Amino acid sequence: MFSLRRDRSDLLAAEGLNSLMEAAGDAVFRLNRHGEILYASKRAIELIGQEASLVGQSLQGLVSSADHTAIGNAIAQAAEPGQRSRVNIRFRTLAAPLWMELRIVAYANARGEHELLAVGRDISGQQATEERLRHMATHDGLTGLPNRSLLSDRIRMAIAHSKRTGKGFSLIALDLDGFKKVNDALGHPVGDALLRVAAMRLYDSLRDVDTLARVGGDEFVAVLPGATTEQEIQTVARRMISTMQLPFEIHGHTLYVGTSIGAAVFPEHGDSEVKLLAHADTAMYRAKETGKGRCVVFSPEKFNQPEHDVSLEAAMFQAVRDGEFLLHYQPIVDARTRRIMGFEALMRWLRPGHGMVPPAQFIPMAESNGLINLLGAWALKAACVQIKRFEEVAGRQFYVSVNVSPRQFRNDQFLDVMDEAIRLSGLQGRQLLLEITEGILMADPEHAEAILNSMIARDVRIAIDDFGTGYSSLAYLKRFPIATLKIDRAFIKDLPSSVKDAAICNVVLSLASHLNLSTVAEGVEKEEQFAFLAEHGCGLIQGYLTGRPLLPEEVLTLLKEEASAEQQAAS
Ligand code: C2E
Ligand code: CA
Ligand code: CA
Repeated sequence: MFSLRRDRSDLLAAEGLNSLMEAAGDAVFRLNRHGEILYASKRAIELIGQEASLVGQSLQGLVSSADHTAIGNAIAQAAEPGQRSRVNIRFRTLAAPLWMELRIVAYANARGEHELLAVGRDISGQQATEERLRHMATHDGLTGLPNRSLLSDRIRMAIAHSKRTGKGFSLIALDLDGFKKVNDALGHPVGDALLRVAAMRLYDSLRDVDTLARVGGDEFVAVLPGATTEQEIQTVARRMISTMQLPFEIHGHTLYVGTSIGAAVFPEHGDSEVKLLAHADTAMYRAKETGKGRCVVFSPEKFNQPEHDVSLEAAMFQAVRDGEFLLHYQPIVDARTRRIMGFEALMRWLRPGHGMVPPAQFIPMAESNGLINLLGAWALKAACVQIKRFEEVAGRQFYVSVNVSPRQFRNDQFLDVMDEAIRLSGLQGRQLLLEITEGILMADPEHAEAILNSMIARDVRIAIDDFGTGYSSLAYLKRFPIATLKIDRAFIKDLPSSVKDAAICNVVLSLASHLNLSTVAEGVEKEEQFAFLAEHGCGLIQGYLTGRPLLPEEVLTLLKEEASAEQQAAS
């Protein structure tokens, strides 16, 4: 026991020191070299507890376990008389943890024994502010869940841990089905409250080792260490899906939403945060497309994507930076006059050493790694600006058709990009025709409806691309404000000899005419096809027969020729 070791002179000296300490008003401890408390000042007792419970205890034992190493190191650092150390630690108290800045100095007592003097300053207020700021920077204000930046850290940690231990993890992307409808109909306060409850339920359906983050409006991502098989993932997903299917009682409303989930596994489906997130996202989108309220686990076979060609993916990122993408413009002509009415912008990748790479080879990959948002935004703006130049040379107006991919359509910035394209080019809204596929409309009809209505408000028109090859649910033709149907090449190719294709084209053309939609036939290569389509009321024709996809300079030459021919004809 330390008290037995004390002799009188030491006691006197210590008492002199002690009264000095009391005057200072700081929390002061005298410790033996092992860190056991010999004396604690009044202030220390006030802050931490009773004297009886302090003297004789090890200082380390009073400190929160998270700071054991720190305090141990600080004590060890003051190993020789005269040596000092400084450390910020938390004391365990009955109330909130007490943060103290502790300055430790080693000295020799009257008997030449090594002792320590530790002077503590209460910095709880300061620490609380710092902690709150740190918390704010890494957490979502609405739900209190980790935000995207903390999620990135967690994913990086999970990757490092997996590499060390050989045990994988999975990444789950989910968003709420039908959330937008609630938010629009009942307002943001209800939407926010719903998100808070949903976040809590999702959180409760996970284990302690899992991370759940909110990464956007109603989008969440979870990191599940150790869950790597389809079965393990589906078990967790089922819990999440069923908890989201229960009714939500919010501000007097009984609300029903749901969730669709996509998952990707490290390292099988991607060795980086970006790839895992992109693949989980793609899988989630598939879950939505195929009925919602389910979980799809990514697999390269299922998604039939060449993106596992890592070098191609890397080359693409580089190519975006180096401006290797360009647009070709394919004329779309009037079926009666053969006059050019507009152009479809078609993307190409001029890849050094590989020539002109067609979109079928890179659009699906761009869709899966997210680059499509960048490429699509560029294409939309570039096409609008280019059309304006065509107009200047031709002295008349054209429309421009631009393809919009599903992921681009879902992107928050999509409408802004569209506005910018119109503003930059000076085109009128109605000169812009955006081509989307049936799948986009079917995947999330509520969202699609909202976006399409915003497009209509800007006078921008919408075409259904590859009509007849997707879901062919005609209900959406009634629901959505669509201007144009583009009949897929598959139905044009064998015209007019194929009786079935002739019948299909006939039906589509008559349907369009009754619904007051304009029609474009795609892939028209032969005069017979042209004649059949014109005769049956197809308004516009696009195909190699009337014009291949051309470089802007080629289009300009064509337009100049056209203008001079028309001048000659007129004179
Ligand atoms: P799509 O939108 O159906 O485009 C029509 C495709 O048919 C183009 O292929 C065009 O070159 C081709 N084509 C036109 N006339 C004929 C013809 O008479 N005969 C034949 N055999 N083919 C014809 P391309 O340029 O290879 O584009 C393929 C697909 O890539 C497009 O299909 C579209 O889905 C996608 N794509 C192209 N550009 C973009 C873009 O900027 N953004 C997005 N998201 N997708 C794009
Ligand atoms: Ca198209
Ligand atoms: Ca098409």
